[in-house]
Amino acid sequence: MSNCESVASGLQALTLQWQRIFQCRAHIAQPDAPRHQDVSSGPASRYCPRVIALLAMLACSPPPAPAPAEDADSTVVSDPLPGPLSGLTIYVSAGHGYAADALATGYQRSVAREDIIEDVWTGEFAADLLVPQLTALGATVRTARERDRSPYAQQAGPAELTDVSHHEWPMPLGTWDRDAPVARLFSGGTASWFLTSPSDSMHPLYVRWIAASDADPLAMYDVTVGGTTTRFTVDQRTHGDEWMPLTNVPAGQLASVTLHGSGSGSLSADQVRIGGGTFPLWSPRRREVVQRDLWDLAGKHYLQSQGAPAYVWEPEGSGMAFDATTRARWVEWSHQPIEPAIMLSLHTNAGGGTGTIVFVRNKCLAGPDCTPRAQDSTRIADAVRERVVAVMSSRQQDWRDSGTIQNDFAEINEFINPGTPAVLVEFGFHDNRLDAVLLVDPDVKRELSEAVTDGVLAWWMSQPEPDFFEQ
Ligand SMILES: [Zn+2]
Repeated sequence: MSNCESVASGLQALTLQWQRIFQCRAHIAQPDAPRHQDVSSGPASRYCPRVIALLAMLACSPPPAPAPAEDADSTVVSDPLPGPLSGLTIYVSAGHGYAADALATGYQRSVAREDIIEDVWTGEFAADLLVPQLTALGATVRTARERDRSPYAQQAGPAELTDVSHHEWPMPLGTWDRDAPVARLFSGGTASWFLTSPSDSMHPLYVRWIAASDADPLAMYDVTVGGTTTRFTVDQRTHGDEWMPLTNVPAGQLASVTLHGSGSGSLSADQVRIGGGTFPLWSPRRREVVQRDLWDLAGKHYLQSQGAPAYVWEPEGSGMAFDATTRARWVEWSHQPIEPAIMLSLHTNAGGGTGTIVFVRNKCLAGPDCTPRAQDSTRIADAVRERVVAVMSSRQQDWRDSGTIQNDFAEINEFINPGTPAVLVEFGFHDNRLDAVLLVDPDVKRELSEAVTDGVLAWWMSQPEPDFFEQ
């Protein structure tokens, strides 16, 4: 077998793992859609560098890129560039947020010391720094609170539809404003949306669909902004009734979105949204509606507003504590076993202490009782903590590193959310003056975000290569 043939057969083995590599399609021809069940989980980033290196070493030409869509006109259709975190889904849970229930209405950690309200600090940290940074490295990032801090949003149903099979309502209905049923298209159908980004800043563009077992596993959204079209491929059999962020649209720009399929399943054309927006929150205690920016809301209200099923955000009982369990139920509900995923929970601490602590449900690195979830949680926690402590120690020499500690916090609970490694980071104490001064420093916040990102990246890169590369 020639070198090129062995590369070709290697690539053939790879294409069976399309779920892992579809982000590398600039280098690997898109495979004929195999079924979801045919593949095991593994990240794209483990494959892309290896395949590119193989091709370069053996001087083989890469297979042709997928043909552009017929309706692409003169624009270039390209996939988003893969990054080192491609293939990894990261659930970002920014602690607390504005909440209303029978007991209270307001922030959950509302004592502001040194200008820090924890609920606001974590929300801003996630939205402004960590989520954009993880996304820029190729991670698929899902958030327990809104990632766009703007109160402005535009939302629209499809302006054009072809090949409609029928209309359907999602179950459960959710509570967000929905005035029309959702179009289900035959496999050859198309849908188009036209929206303008609010003029105050750059905004994320979201799409959503109703999942179905006969839906297209390679449904394509072509998003055109300023003459450039980028194609985003999604599996419409999963992640129904979630707003899926695809890209960012600059202020005031028109975005046109076209959905079409690979021909192997039906398509669902629900609404498209640009921007965050506001939400009318009912306060049972005040007996009035409180209008809040979406980004500011606690996870349990945000996930309700986004149409997540009731069991995610409305457990039995009441009280602010249930916002924490909501986060774990949200990850368990959204996460697909096929997708490598982790959960990062972001907090600042209080109660009379100082320094950094990172919590995991079970701390262990080996042994018969050490599950893969516990091992990965411990490794991620250590990698993130070391880097966070390094940032703080560079400003305050005797910064306290309290280590990676085992704790049964609801957010990282493995019985509610058994499938996803989870770590809870307490960056510093917001009720300690010296800690708080560092936490509010914009440069420190930026470096803390880089520290978390670097820690996750270091863990991700240390993951073992898949077996078939070791032959
Ligand atoms: Zn907290």
